[in-house]
Amino acid sequence: MSINCQTCLIDGEWCSASDEAVVPVLCPSDGMQFTSISSGGAQEIDKAVRAARNAFDHGQWSTLTATERGRLLYRLSTAIAENGDRLAQLEAQDTGKPMKQARADMVATARYFEYYGAAADKVHGETIPYLNGYQVQVIREPFGVTGHIIPWNYPAQMFGRTLAPALAMGNAVVLKPAEDACMVPIALGKLATEIGFPPGAINIVTGIGAVAGAALAEHPGVDFLSFTGSPEVGVLVQCAAAKRHIGCTLELGGKSPQILFADANLDAAIPVLCNAIVQNGGQTCSAGSRVLIQASIYDQVVERLATAFTQLTAGGSEEDTELGGLISARQQKRVQGFIDRATAPVIARGQISEKASDTGFFVAPALFGPVDEQCELAREEVFGPVLSCMTFDDESDAIRIANDTDYGLVAGVWTDNASIQMRMAKALRVGQVFLNGFGAGAGIELPFGGVGKSGHGREKGFAALHEFSTLKTIIQNHG
Ligand code: NAP
Ligand code: MG
Repeated sequence: MSINCQTCLIDGEWCSASDEAVVPVLCPSDGMQFTSISSGGAQEIDKAVRAARNAFDHGQWSTLTATERGRLLYRLSTAIAENGDRLAQLEAQDTGKPMKQARADMVATARYFEYYGAAADKVHGETIPYLNGYQVQVIREPFGVTGHIIPWNYPAQMFGRTLAPALAMGNAVVLKPAEDACMVPIALGKLATEIGFPPGAINIVTGIGAVAGAALAEHPGVDFLSFTGSPEVGVLVQCAAAKRHIGCTLELGGKSPQILFADANLDAAIPVLCNAIVQNGGQTCSAGSRVLIQASIYDQVVERLATAFTQLTAGGSEEDTELGGLISARQQKRVQGFIDRATAPVIARGQISEKASDTGFFVAPALFGPVDEQCELAREEVFGPVLSCMTFDDESDAIRIANDTDYGLVAGVWTDNASIQMRMAKALRVGQVFLNGFGAGAGIELPFGGVGKSGHGREKGFAALHEFSTLKTIIQNHG
């Protein structure tokens, strides 16, 4: 076991917490500690925010053109791709996800920096016709210092998703990764420093959410906050933002439905339905956790899903099973609690690999149905490999059930009827709708975010560049 406690990146230097406090880091595949991280606190956050402010106001970062910033992002993308295998190994060890998933995550992370690197000098303002003798320009400016709090489910991808657009726009950033998944964000911070990001442009403070996260959310030097995680902590972050009159984006998960009409192509749909709930062990904000099935095909769909579920296996990350261990013993207990309390019949369970360690944080996938619309399984985000099957009669019934949730992130609609597709797409209260498909979060190019308890603001695509910047209107009286 190596002890690596210099895990905070502040003003280009790696350091430990001022009180030398550390947090153990466990591997979910066997539950064993393999290293430690610094438990940074208010002092480290304060230094990091000051470093970012200096970088933004006076440092080398502030002198770069948009094209030069873009080139740096692009170089980081290349470095991530070149180090993809090493980073994927580390991600799998730290989060328990199968190597196949970890490799895919590194490809996506590199793509974030490629996309936003290329976009950095393509965001521009506009002029507006106004009174005679006036010239009006609307320019887009960075906020200054942006604070980013990310969860443990996709630490590498989240690093790219939230930091790349903020940096492309010229902000200087302070990141608080989740204490359960810091290793790859730290490694990415090292790569960024090596390829030439100037001191203070990217700062990272590892530590506990209620301490380091809260200190970042409340710091008066932060100009904008980006948070992904639970609705409960989202409320705290938004309150902290409101107290200082700054903006924030919140991405808080979901209870996303996949809706199968009687004509759905089941050969295409069944594998997608399974993958959408077992990918990353179901620990995905956009997991397809509810399947709404038109009554006439309910038995047929459930039978096919049951067959597929019994073949799903959870195992150690090196086994490359369909899913790995969950992130922590706490999360394993939480998901198991939903399964134990379920009032709906269990249709099928997957299995835990015989090779899997007894001390790993595994939960066998579970398929339930028919699940009553009002029960816990139909309404709460489980954040684990648990799929709820429900029935509906007709289009309006499908819309009613799909929208009868506090959340609203993603939905999938399976039918070849183009009119139903478009009516459903318009009626569903979510941020993203798939027609005859479902891909957790989908491409980097596509705006993504929710409504209601799923949060607000849009990430990915050009929408994220707009979120991490603001408009200034310049009105010139030239006579
Ligand atoms: P969480 O507590 O909301 O964690 C998300 C991030 O917020 C982490 O970096 C966390 O740090 C930090 N944090 C925690 N308390 C904070 C505070 N008071 N102020 C500022 N930051 C704070 O989520 P969780 O406890 O890990 O997971 C609980 C549930 O949230 C999950 O079961 C799932 O339902 C949901 N969730 C959703 C997403 C998503 O992608 N939308 C991601 C993760 C979890 P630490 O981790 O160091 O505490
Ligand atoms: Mg937490």
